Amino acid sequence: MIIAIDGPAGSGKSTIARMLARRLGFNYLDTGAMYRALTWKALQDGADLTDANALCQLMDQTAIEFRGKNDGMQIWVDGVNVTEKIRAPSVTNNVHYISNASSVRHRMVKLQQMFASGGNVIAEGRDMGTVVFPHADKKFFLDAEIEERARRRHDEMRLPDGEISYADVMKDIEIRDKRDTTRDNSPLRKSDDAIYLNTTKMSIEEVVARIFEELEPVVKKLDVYKE
Ligand code: C5P
Repeated sequence: MIIAIDGPAGSGKSTIARMLARRLGFNYLDTGAMYRALTWKALQDGADLTDANALCQLMDQTAIEFRGKNDGMQIWVDGVNVTEKIRAPSVTNNVHYISNASSVRHRMVKLQQMFASGGNVIAEGRDMGTVVFPHADKKFFLDAEIEERARRRHDEMRLPDGEISYADVMKDIEIRDKRDTTRDNSPLRKSDDAIYLNTTKMSIEEVVARIFEELEPVVKKLDVYKE
C-alpha cells in the first residue's frame, strides 16, 4: 500500500508522514532527503552543479540507501550516514540544482519506486501523487499559509536568537516555493485526486486525526494496523 503526501516547504509533511509511518508500521520514504543526499555528495566532490551531465554521472556512481525502518529511517551515501548532514544550509541552498536536472530526477524516481515495491510506504515529497506514485492508494496535499510555514521552520531550527531570523527563513521559503512550483520537471502540484488540507490553523494532532479519518477504511484491512 502506498500513501502519497505532497506539499510545499514547511507544510508539516515530514512530521505528519513520520507520525503516520510509526502509527501504521509503514516505511517512511523521505524523497526530499534523496535529493539532499546527492546534493551533499556533489558538494563534497566539488562537482559543477550547473553541469547536468556531470550530476547524472555522479548519481550513477553514488549509492543512496535508506537503513532502518518505519519512522526511524536513516539515509546513507556511499556508506556514510548523512541523515543530519543533509540538513545543512549549504545543502538546502543548492538542492535545486539537483532537483532540476531531469536525468537525475528520472533516476531518483526509479529508486523511489523500487523502495516502495518492498512493502507498505508513506511517501513524502513534491511529486509523489503526480509523477512517482500516480496510482497511490491515498494521496494528500498539505498546505499552509507562508507566514505559518516560516514560523514552523524557524521554531524547528531552535537556533540561538539572531542566528537566523524569521525574516530570513521566510525569504528562503519564498525562494523555494518559487523554484518548486515553476521548475520544468515535475513541479510541485496537487494531483487531481489528492485530498487538500490547509493546516495553517491546525495542530499536528488535528492533521494526523484528519488524515486518519480518510485512511481508516483503507488501512483497516491491514494486519499492521495499530489502534
Ligand atoms: O522536502 P525537502 O525540503 O527536504 O526537499 C528538499 C528539496 O528537494 C526541495 O526543495 C525540492 O526542491 C526537492 N524535492 C523535489 N522532489 C521531491 C522532493 C523534494 O524536487 N519529491
